[in-house]
Amino acid sequence: MDNTPEKIIRSVVDQCADCEQCREMMADVCPFFPRLYQLFDQERDESSLIGSRDLRKLVDLCNFCGLCPCPDIRARILKAKSGFVSCDGMPVKTKLIQDVEKVSKYLNSFHGLGNVLMRNRLSSGLFKELAGVHRDRLLPEASVKNFPFWAAKTGLCQKHSDDHSGKLRVALFAGCTSRYFFPEVARAAVRFLHKNQVEVYYPPQKCCSMPPMLEGDSTFAGELAKYNLEQMTDCIKSGYDLVCSCPTCGYMFKKLLKEKACYSSEYQESVGGDETFILVPVEDSDSKPEQIRHRRVHRSMYSGILRDDGVFSHLDPLKRIEVAEKTFDLGQYLLGLFRSGKLDAGFPRLKKKVLYYPPCHTREQNMGLPYADLLRQVPGLEVQVVEGAYLCCGMAGIMGCKKEFYHQSLEMGRPLMEKIRAMQPDILVTECLSCRLQFMQTLPFVQSHPIEILAGAYIGTIV
Ligand code: SF4
Ligand code: SF4
Repeated sequence: MDNTPEKIIRSVVDQCADCEQCREMMADVCPFFPRLYQLFDQERDESSLIGSRDLRKLVDLCNFCGLCPCPDIRARILKAKSGFVSCDGMPVKTKLIQDVEKVSKYLNSFHGLGNVLMRNRLSSGLFKELAGVHRDRLLPEASVKNFPFWAAKTGLCQKHSDDHSGKLRVALFAGCTSRYFFPEVARAAVRFLHKNQVEVYYPPQKCCSMPPMLEGDSTFAGELAKYNLEQMTDCIKSGYDLVCSCPTCGYMFKKLLKEKACYSSEYQESVGGDETFILVPVEDSDSKPEQIRHRRVHRSMYSGILRDDGVFSHLDPLKRIEVAEKTFDLGQYLLGLFRSGKLDAGFPRLKKKVLYYPPCHTREQNMGLPYADLLRQVPGLEVQVVEGAYLCCGMAGIMGCKKEFYHQSLEMGRPLMEKIRAMQPDILVTECLSCRLQFMQTLPFVQSHPIEILAGAYIGTIV
C-alpha cells in the first residue's frame, strides 16, 4: 500500500532530497528539514537505512508554520502524522494540552484554584510533568473573567435583528488564547469596532482546530471544524462578516479549511468543470468570488492528485469555500474600513516607539501587513517592522511548550530575539499570542496586540 504513513513520509524525504532547495534555505528556521537531510545523508553515505521510528519522529518536527515553499509537501507531512496517530494513538499528555479550552477550564475551576496551584513551584511542576510541558516554560494565567464570560455579560452573544439596513456587522472569532488567557485583546477588538459603528456579535465557537490538526488528531480537528463551520455559515446568512483577531484562526478559516475543496464534484459542478477538465482557481487573495479566474486542467493527467482528500474533506466543500471568502483577519478588515473612509482615524498624538513583528500565519495569508499600515495612522507613533521572511519566534503553538521541543523552540527563535533586542523598542507589538508567550519567555519588552495599541490610542492610553 502506498498510503501507509511511513510510505507517505518516505516519499517526502525522497522528493526533498532530490530537490535540495530546502537544505540551505530552511537550515536555521525549521527543525524538520535539517533532520530530513541528515537522515538522508546518513542513509546514502553510511548505508544506515532510515527506519520507521526515524520517520515517525521526523513528522513530529513539523509545526506547520508554512514557511517552506510546497503546500503539497506540508499536506503530506500532515497526512503521515495523522496516519501515525491513527495507528499508534496519541499520548495522553498531548491529548490534554492540545485542548486549550479544556486546560483553561481546569485552571479556572473552583474559583481559579488551578491558577493558584500554578503559582506554586511544586504544584506547577507536577502539572507540567503530567501535561508533558517543560518545567521552565512560562505559562500565562487562565483568566477567571475570560472573554466568553464578559461577552455574555455585555450582550455580545445576542444576534442582531435581521434588518441591518447597511450597517456594518461582524461575528468575532477571538481564538482560544485570547478568549481564556488574554481576554483584554478580544475586549480591545470589540471596543475598537464599536467606536467605528460596527455591530459585534460573539457567536458560539470552538478552537479553530489548528492544535489537534498539528498533532495529527484529525478526528478531533474535524469535529471542531464541523462545529465552527455550521456557526460561521449561520452568521453569514445573518449578514455578518467573519473576523478573526488571531492570525492562526484566520489562516485556518481562510486557507486551510478550504484546501482542496475546489477539486470536489460539488465545486466543479458549480463552476462548470466537466468530464474532461477540472477547473482550478488561480489563487488571488484580493479577488471577489465572482472574479476568480480558473485554469483548465485535464482530468486524465491529474485526477489522482487533484482530489478533495485532506483533513476536512468530510465537510461540505462549498461551505468551506464560502467561509474562507467571508473571513477577514481583524487588521485586514479594519484597513478595509480605513481605505473606504469608514474608520475614525482621529487619534491623538502619541510619542512612542513600537516594533511590529508580523507572525508567520499573518504572512501566510498574503494580505500585506495591515496592522503596520494602521499603526502608522497614529500621529507621533514611530513604527518599525521586523523584516525577514524566515524569522520565526519558534513557539509553534503548543509544540514550544513540550518538554522534548522546548530547547529547540528557543533555538529556532534565537535569530528573531537577537534582532528585536538590537532594536530596543518601547513596545513590542504582534497579533499572535503564541509569539507573545515566546517573547514573554525571552525578552524584557512590554508587549501588546496591535488592536490594544489602536483601541488605547483613541483615548491616549497605550501602555
Ligand atoms: S519542500 Fe518543496 S522546495 Fe523544499 S525541498 Fe521539498 S520539494 Fe523542494
Ligand atoms: S511547515 Fe514549517 S516546520 Fe513544517 S516543514 Fe515547512 S518550514 Fe518546516
